[in-house]
Formats: sequence, structure tokens, C-alpha cells
Amino acid sequence: MTLIKKKITVIGGGVSGISCALLLQKLGFETEVISKDPLLPSKPNDPKLVSSFPAASVIPHSIEHHNLNTLFRNSLFFFEKLFSENFKGLGKHLHYELFAHKEEVPKYAPLMHKFELLDESSIKNAPSHPSIPTTFGFKSDCFFADWAIYFPDLIDAYLAVGGKVSIKKLCRKDLQFLDSEIIINCTEFGGPELAGEKFDPIISKGHILHINDVPKLKNKFGKTVSYNFVPGFDHYHTENGTILDVYCYSRENRLVLGGSRLTGTLSEHDEWIGEKVTEPSVEVDGVTIPEQILSINQDIIKFTFGIDVRSFPRKQAYAGYRFMGNKEPGLKLETEDAYDRLIIHNYGHGGAGVTVSWGCAFEVASIIFSKLRSSSLDLEKALSVI
Ligand SMILES: Cc1cc2nc3c(=O)[nH]c(=O)nc-3n(C[C@H](O)[C@H](O)[C@H](O)COP(=O)(O)OP(=O)(O)OC[C@H]3O[C@@H](n4cnc5c(N)ncnc54)[C@H](O)[C@@H]3O)c2cc1C
Repeated sequence: MTLIKKKITVIGGGVSGISCALLLQKLGFETEVISKDPLLPSKPNDPKLVSSFPAASVIPHSIEHHNLNTLFRNSLFFFEKLFSENFKGLGKHLHYELFAHKEEVPKYAPLMHKFELLDESSIKNAPSHPSIPTTFGFKSDCFFADWAIYFPDLIDAYLAVGGKVSIKKLCRKDLQFLDSEIIINCTEFGGPELAGEKFDPIISKGHILHINDVPKLKNKFGKTVSYNFVPGFDHYHTENGTILDVYCYSRENRLVLGGSRLTGTLSEHDEWIGEKVTEPSVEVDGVTIPEQILSINQDIIKFTFGIDVRSFPRKQAYAGYRFMGNKEPGLKLETEDAYDRLIIHNYGHGGAGVTVSWGCAFEVASIIFSKLRSSSLDLEKALSVI
């Protein structure tokens, strides 16, 4: 591929920034990623630096965008391509979305591979809680990124094609001094400041619990299984009454448990202002998490798979902020002309930055192609380079 003589600066070294930079570099641009934080922090404990520890299912949970289904569908094409080439850390297995009450099927669901609504008999084969019956659900094949493998591999893939990374914090006024005419703002929580907006984030706080050394959950046909389960108001809700879900994703040598979505924002001093963890709560490794993440999952896993997670002592907990949007909810994926430069904003990925990483990268690359008027970019071409 011939080099297109336009340098592109991608600000932000999380999954959005690296995916954009990798695709653009492979399309022939000269790119550089500038990130305020190291791409792989040694202690992933900053709740705002969410690419350090996502649960990393490829499902568009907790994200808003008018074109979400297109972003999701395009992302799936990229994940499928990477999966077919055995990209490290990327898995695909049977996933259930289960509910104790009747629900509407989300709009994205039919895009998932082998999507199927559960009927009375297939519900019996799904993971279940011993005393909270599932009355509604669907299953599909779903991609999951084993984060400790996938993300370092993504970074390596970028560096291997000549990508550059610098560690530096930039602010809005620095943009005019960058030696590139195209700038991509993938800084998530840093996004509003770089876009010249007042920082007024809408956040969905989440908790994750890794239980190490546990084997993968397998159904009676020997297939790996993951699930999300909404047990209903009586069993798990926020202090404002929002019904919550729990989940368990199978990884190579651990289970990733989770399930809290607490709405709030941050004070000027970065303190959490919003819903608190519902009682009861437990403390793991100094992180307070809703007890239901442990207890409801524990019961499902013991009842369905015969594994007692209580007997696995090595656990790590994380609390993280899903950035749902600034001032109002919604992913910002749009262009701005400022300082004689094309600036493309790509932030506010909520709980689905991994899920839409490739869809957003393709959208960013398409915008650049159309602005340069050198040629248009179609999906086939983008997939052929990745
Ligand atoms: C509990 C929890 C569970 C989740 N589970 C999933 C899931 O199952 N599936 C899924 O798809 N998503 C999930 N997510 C969401 C996902 O983690 C995020 O959407 C995604 O990591 C966002 O990536 P990003 O690259 O856009 O932003 P970030 O990871 O926040 O990266 C931003 C980057 O910008 C840099 N930066 C910031 N400001 C500046 C600045 N001024 N100058 C230079 N650099 C700057 C930072 O250093 C960082 O490198 C989850 C999130 C949470 C909290």
C-alpha cells in the first residue's frame, strides 16, 4: 500500500485510539498516538482509564448513538476478520441475555451471530438461578476479548506496522501546534476539554470482579457459556429504583463477574456524585462492590455449572466509569474544522467502547477519505488491510 502523505495525530491510547490508529496506519497514513497515560498502566486502578479493565464483551450495552446499529454491525465485520485470523485474545462463544421478567428485544440483538429468542424448552438449557426463574431471554454467539491478551496484542500490531506512541498530556490550545492536519480526539474523559466544551460528564459507574483460576463455564454439550441476567427489582436495583443486571463472562483462566450501572457525574475535584453501591456491599482488595454481583452470580454458577466460586480465593475488583456523554448522553463522533485542521471527535463510548471500537475506527477513516477526496473507503477495502 502506498503511503498517503498526510500525518494523522490520534490523541488517546485506549482501545478507541489504538484501533483508529492501527486501521489508519494500515491504510497507508503516517500516524502517531499521543496519550497522557501509559497504554498498559502497571496498576489499572484509575476509574476513568477504562481501557485498562473492561469486561470486554462485544455487545452494545450502555451506549447511545443515532447510528449505533451501523457502528456495531461494522465492528462485528472487523472482529470476525480478526477472529478468522486467530488474533490473540479474541474469542467467540455462546452468550445468553436472560431476564426474570418479560422484556423488549433490544434493537441490536438480531445483528448478533446465531441470534435466537429462547422458548420454554431452550430456557431450560440456559444458566439459571436456583430461586429466581428466568422467564425471557435470547442467545447468540458473541465475541469476547480476553483483555490481558487482546489489548497488548492490539498495541503490538500497531507498533509492528510502524505506529508511534508518545506519552504527553495535550490541551485544546496545543492542537494548533501539532504537525499534522488531521487530529483524532479519542480521549474519552479528556474529550470535552479538547473539543472546547465545559466538562459535564454523564457517567454510569460499574464494578467488575475477577475470580482467578476458575475453569470456563461449559454447558452440557461442552460449549463455553457466558450470560447477563436481570433478576428483577426485588433482587437488585439502585437506590433510585433502576433495575440492574449481573453478568459472568468466561475467560481462559478466570471468570469476569460484574453488573452495576450507577448514574452520576464527577465534582470539580473528581469525586463521585451520584448513586451509591446498593446495600449490602462487600469489599474486595479495597474496592467496595455490590454484594449481589458476587451472591447472585455465585448461586447461578453453583446451580448450573456445579462450580463453587467461593472456593477460589484469588480475586481482584475494579470500579470504573462509563462515560455516557458530555452534558447529554450519546457518543460524539463528529468533525470540527479548527486551527486549519480537521479534528474528528470520537468519545463517549459508555459501556461499549470495545464493542464499537472498529465501527468507530472505520467511520473515522471513512470521514478522512471523503475529506481528502482522494478516494472513498468502503468496508471491503478497510477489512482487506486489517
Ligand atoms: C465496569 C466497566 C465494564 C465495561 N465493560 C465493557 C464491555 O463488556 N464491552 C465494551 O465494549 N466496553 C466495556 N466497557 C467500556 C469500555 O471500557 C470503554 O468504552 C472503553 O475502554 C473506552 O476506550 P477509549 O479508548 O475510548 O477511552 P479510554 O480507555 O478512557 O482511553 C482514553 C485515552 O486518552 C488519554 N487521554 C485522556 N485525556 C488526554 C489528554 N488530554 N491528552 C492526551 N491523552 C489523553 C488517556 O490517557 C487514555 O489513553 C466497560 C467499562 C466499565 C467501566
